[in-house]
Amino acid sequence: MPERHDESPTERVADPDAEGWIDWAHHLPSPNQDARPPDTRIDLLVIHNISLPPGEFGGHWIQDLFLNRLDPDAHPYFAPIARIRVSSHLLIRRDGSLIQFVPCERRAWHAGISSYEGRERCNDYSIGIELEGADLTPFEDLQYRTLADCTRWILARYPAITLERIAGHSDIAPGRKTDPGAAFDWRRYLDLCR
Ligand SMILES: [Zn+2]
Repeated sequence: MPERHDESPTERVADPDAEGWIDWAHHLPSPNQDARPPDTRIDLLVIHNISLPPGEFGGHWIQDLFLNRLDPDAHPYFAPIARIRVSSHLLIRRDGSLIQFVPCERRAWHAGISSYEGRERCNDYSIGIELEGADLTPFEDLQYRTLADCTRWILARYPAITLERIAGHSDIAPGRKTDPGAAFDWRRYLDLCR
């Protein structure tokens, strides 16, 4: 997909690896991030899907949303969401390309009101990955490949996250969220990560 020419250049931090930037991802730092609570053990991975407008793929709207520059007039769906402050650590587009908005050591704002094993505020201790997609549309082979690649990177860096500690947004916010949806093939994904 063509990308806008006004994207922020990749931000250079003092030690990108220490902050948890994946070096092979395209880096677009989001303002929607903050510090995790002190001494947080990062021990959960959350899988999502998103498309903007819903069911349409290939635009720059998701990254615009995560960068707080979604044009509220560009589509009727955008006006009520344009000022919502959200982000994820990672976004995997339909072509398998990987964009990182928040370094993994910091807290991205992806889960909202959520609970895992009785522990609330999943943003505090999780890493969030968005797949460009919709609940009932099969994801692309290249997306599974990139998802497995970055999952292996995450598991190697954060050993408290195991294959058993990967959840869907629908698992941590049941009744409120449905993603990644029925079209997401969990077995295929987890097999690719082994
Ligand atoms: Zn979600």
